[in-house]
Amino acid sequence: MSLAELIAGIPENPRSRIAPTPSGLLHRGNAFNFLLTWTLVRQKQGTLHLRIDDLDSARRRKEYIEDIFESLHWLGIDWDSGPRNSTEQQNIFSQDLRLRRYHDLIQRLIDHGHCFACTCSRTETGPVYPGTCEAKNLPLDEPGTSIRLRVAQGEIVQIKDRVTTSFAIGPETGSFVIRRKDGLPSYQIASVSDDEDMQMNLIVRGMDLLPSTAMQTLIAEKAGLLNFKNASFIHHSLITKDGEKLSKSAGAESLRVLRQGGEEAAKSMRREFERWANAL
Ligand SMILES: [Zn+2]
Repeated sequence: MSLAELIAGIPENPRSRIAPTPSGLLHRGNAFNFLLTWTLVRQKQGTLHLRIDDLDSARRRKEYIEDIFESLHWLGIDWDSGPRNSTEQQNIFSQDLRLRRYHDLIQRLIDHGHCFACTCSRTETGPVYPGTCEAKNLPLDEPGTSIRLRVAQGEIVQIKDRVTTSFAIGPETGSFVIRRKDGLPSYQIASVSDDEDMQMNLIVRGMDLLPSTAMQTLIAEKAGLLNFKNASFIHHSLITKDGEKLSKSAGAESLRVLRQGGEEAAKSMRREFERWANAL
């Protein structure tokens, strides 16, 4: 699908966001995601929000937050709401300030009987939760206990992408964590809660986040988050280097290194982005 066709397919005046996590340096793959989101929003006279997903206080670092702002300026991406610098991020926009909202959402899911407590470690469960604690009825508020959202074995989630996609969440993830053992809300809870409250209706992310979209959609369905349930998604292909997915330790592929090439390097990145975006 060409970029023009992609633009034609999304609604007018979309509300969307760029949502990097400050747990590493940004790379080419992040840049393409930001450029795609920005292009779609600007072509359709929409609104773009910058949201820095900084809930994981053990992994976030100020230098990674600075890297986000410097990368966006270098790429020529502007945004309509959200932090303008790391001080605003910390004082006004940090997800720490929204913890109450996240816990309210978790409580709502508990109150509706969708949750159970789990004492398994990650090594015990593997990538797909086998249901170990589901019938144990463990207390929800013991220290060292996580809370999972119950997913039926055959559960399937419909995702509204360019074409509607079925994701078999039962076999692919199983019941998943919504409150971690350390008491923090999971990434899925924070992300869906923010998207709901900020009334996002277009979410652009890599294919690697398809399971996340499925988990968040299920949360939205069970908690009645109407806005998120009606949002449109674009899951795009990932940028690879020699067939490997780029990671946040991408070294020479990091935007921090690429920025040293100045405006010329930014232009060349935008040309590469256009080639990529025309073959999505
Ligand atoms: Zn368990």
